[in-house]
Amino acid sequence: MEKILNYINGEYREPQSGEWLDNYNPSNGEVYAQIANSNAQDITSAYEAAKAAFPKWSHTTIGERSRIMLKIATLIESNLDRLAEAEVKDNGKPLSLAKAVDIPRASSNFRFFANAITQFSSDAHESIGLNTMNFTLRQPIGVVGCISPWNLPLYLFTWKIAPAIAAGNTVIAKPSEVTPMTAFLLGEICTEAGLPNGVLNIVHGTGPSAGQAIVEHQNIKAISFTGGTKTGEHIARTAAPMFKKLSLELGGKNPNLIFADCDYDKMLAVTVKSSFANQGQICLCGSRIFVEKSIYEQFKKDFVAKVQQLKIGNPSDSDTNIGALVSKPHLEKVQSYIKIAEEEGGKILFGGKSVTVKGSENGYYLEPTVIEVYDNKCRVNQEEIFGPVVTLMPFETEEEALEMANGVKYGLSATLWTTNLNRTMRVSKQLEAGIVWVNTWLNRDLRTPFGGMKDSGVGREGGFEALRFFTEAKNVCIKYE
Ligand code: NDP
Repeated sequence: MEKILNYINGEYREPQSGEWLDNYNPSNGEVYAQIANSNAQDITSAYEAAKAAFPKWSHTTIGERSRIMLKIATLIESNLDRLAEAEVKDNGKPLSLAKAVDIPRASSNFRFFANAITQFSSDAHESIGLNTMNFTLRQPIGVVGCISPWNLPLYLFTWKIAPAIAAGNTVIAKPSEVTPMTAFLLGEICTEAGLPNGVLNIVHGTGPSAGQAIVEHQNIKAISFTGGTKTGEHIARTAAPMFKKLSLELGGKNPNLIFADCDYDKMLAVTVKSSFANQGQICLCGSRIFVEKSIYEQFKKDFVAKVQQLKIGNPSDSDTNIGALVSKPHLEKVQSYIKIAEEEGGKILFGGKSVTVKGSENGYYLEPTVIEVYDNKCRVNQEEIFGPVVTLMPFETEEEALEMANGVKYGLSATLWTTNLNRTMRVSKQLEAGIVWVNTWLNRDLRTPFGGMKDSGVGREGGFEALRFFTEAKNVCIKYE
């Protein structure tokens, strides 16, 4: 059986514990690989390699760093099929999605930051009359930690690693133990691209063991984490006494506000995607749909009709829209919320049941589920489900829509459908979310800041924000005569 090894100092290594974890294929429930179950000893080895690589990498010219990163981007592209198939086997997402979104975006992450670093510059402030000149150095931090989740495995893993190494840091990175395969393959791509040994170290294993050891390590001074709010809270508590720099990209419960004056057909098509893409397992999916009362009944009918057409099937089939959920425990968690919705008086308009796919009978498949709810305070509207489940509720006024949209502890993203420019401005300004999409969804320009408010996180990634996070600003003040 294939073994997923750690990638430390440019070479693949077994875990020092000699222990392995099972890696499941969610489309058929079978174990198909063994994952290194790493612990603090492996993190220490990774740290030593990263520390040794830091002086040279941080003094490598921007041009050279950029050249190597562009090579990594190109190699990810030329390995598109292999990486997409690996992602599908690990995660259960449709192959078409992995090929169109996940892997191309992993490549873009390297390409984007390879270019961005060539444009990243420092500020200078002359204090006229005082004869002093200030300039701000942006220096790499040293060895940094990157921890990512299972929903967009290589996409989010590289979203952190690329700016970290572009800025001159060396990295210890841990993918989710649920989806380690593409991170494993990234090691050999980095070697082929000529990334010096120790610049990127990839350690596999569980969050409480390998992940915790990264967060607890005294000399890893910055952690970029994407994952659940509870884990983020735990990481913040662990890291705060060591004064680490933290970027936390956490959970969401995103509202989708649909006004009667929207472009209805476009809204309908995009809302199906924003509800169920990647089986609803994208932190940016709009899981609470609020519709203006005058079009609510029509929307309900049309939306359910469209959702009914989605094909649930083996992720490798080209006509599959909805693949498998990532794991059995996750499937059970999502199902438990469907039960809670019913207990709370919600009405299942469509879906709600698990699905048996012919030839993949033990896979973790669930129907896309649409639930009508009557109170925004119900648990299914307040807690993150992170699966193919959306709720519907009508609203009468803009104020009511905003109150419900903002009436959760999360504040990651929001989508607004309207053709009224004044409303666009009014509502966008009042939405408590780090990202607002108007008449579109998941439209990403990598230069823009990305992150959440409230319990959805701290800090912003993307563009220069990420390069600022992965550098220390040092002001140098020179007095001259
Ligand atoms: P988790 O918080 O469970 O895990 C995220 C990562 O953290 C995994 O690599 C996990 O390892 C690791 N981890 C777990 N415990 C610890 C610990 N004590 N110390 C260090 N690392 C730890 O999230 P999920 O993987 O379940 O991902 C889903 C969540 O991610 C959802 O809440 C979703 O909203 C959020 N998310 C947020 C995004 C954003 O940009 N804001 C984007 C995508 C997802 P392991 O899995 O091996 O246990």
